[in-house]
Amino acid sequence: MRNIDNKNNKVKYENLSDRSEKDKPWDIHRKDCDAVSNLYFQSSEFEKYYERMEDCSGRLEFNQLMNRETGELTIKLSKAHFCRVRHCPVCQWRKSLMWKARFYKALPEIEKEYKSARWMFLTLTVENCEITELKSTIQWMNKSFIKMIQRKHFKKNNLGFVKTTEITRSKDGKAHPHFHVLLMMKSTYFKSSYLKTSDWAEIWRDCLNVSYVPVVDIRVVKNKLNGDANKSALADAVAETLKYAVKPADMTKNRDWFHELTRQVFKMRFVSTGGVLKDLFKEETTEEDLLLLSEDNEDDNKEIGSVCFNWYKSKSKYRRKIE
Ligand SMILES: [Zn+2]
Repeated sequence: MRNIDNKNNKVKYENLSDRSEKDKPWDIHRKDCDAVSNLYFQSSEFEKYYERMEDCSGRLEFNQLMNRETGELTIKLSKAHFCRVRHCPVCQWRKSLMWKARFYKALPEIEKEYKSARWMFLTLTVENCEITELKSTIQWMNKSFIKMIQRKHFKKNNLGFVKTTEITRSKDGKAHPHFHVLLMMKSTYFKSSYLKTSDWAEIWRDCLNVSYVPVVDIRVVKNKLNGDANKSALADAVAETLKYAVKPADMTKNRDWFHELTRQVFKMRFVSTGGVLKDLFKEETTEEDLLLLSEDNEDDNKEIGSVCFNWYKSKSKYRRKIE
């Protein structure tokens, strides 16, 4: 019997995406990682990044967990190697998840302490620049932002902020750097100091010291989570603020553009915080941080061994062999 079985036993695979709904994004991000690292491979200047990214998250080890009450089986990442190359799509994604987790962990305490505070979501832009001028443009925007937060009106009404930099690529190959800012405002702002979008644009214009009116967007974010952290307006604003700096699709459109972007933003900081949100994030992360180990409630689950999935480049899937 055994012999016959062996003959008919072809190697079978289980896909990570079939095993775990919440781990489906792994395939997408790791595929993006291959596309981006391939661009680094094409230049000796960036070969080191290529080598590090090749080693990124090739093997994922998960703990298998069984819910003590329902018996439901889930898996939770327990071990992986992360390259932490700045533009690595996998590491960018993990970092974003980590930031969001930290924000939501700190949120109840913050909202308890500042009950009447309300969230706003601000987007600040400038005219597109050449990719070779990206660094100086962002430096100038940063200085202008500091001018803005030192103004009386801002100081008087703002409790804290989280600001991130995003860069998109416009059709003509220019760079479009812009800031996403999550603002925590005092309730007095809405009573006596409220500014229209055009007022914010004028302040930003003045801080930039330009003659054109920059595109600015400001909106009030619904304050409460409504019991569902994934569907609230605040969650949308947080997700928009704490996401990638450059989307992978923009990285891979043009090799030379992406190489120049890499040079331009080298060592630049893209996350800053202030006021009562000041110590929420740090930009540097450890491998351990990116595993997001402390994410959920461990007590409900019983560990029942581990399981590993490997990246199959040619299939663009994480899989594991099964007997
Ligand atoms: Zn990576």
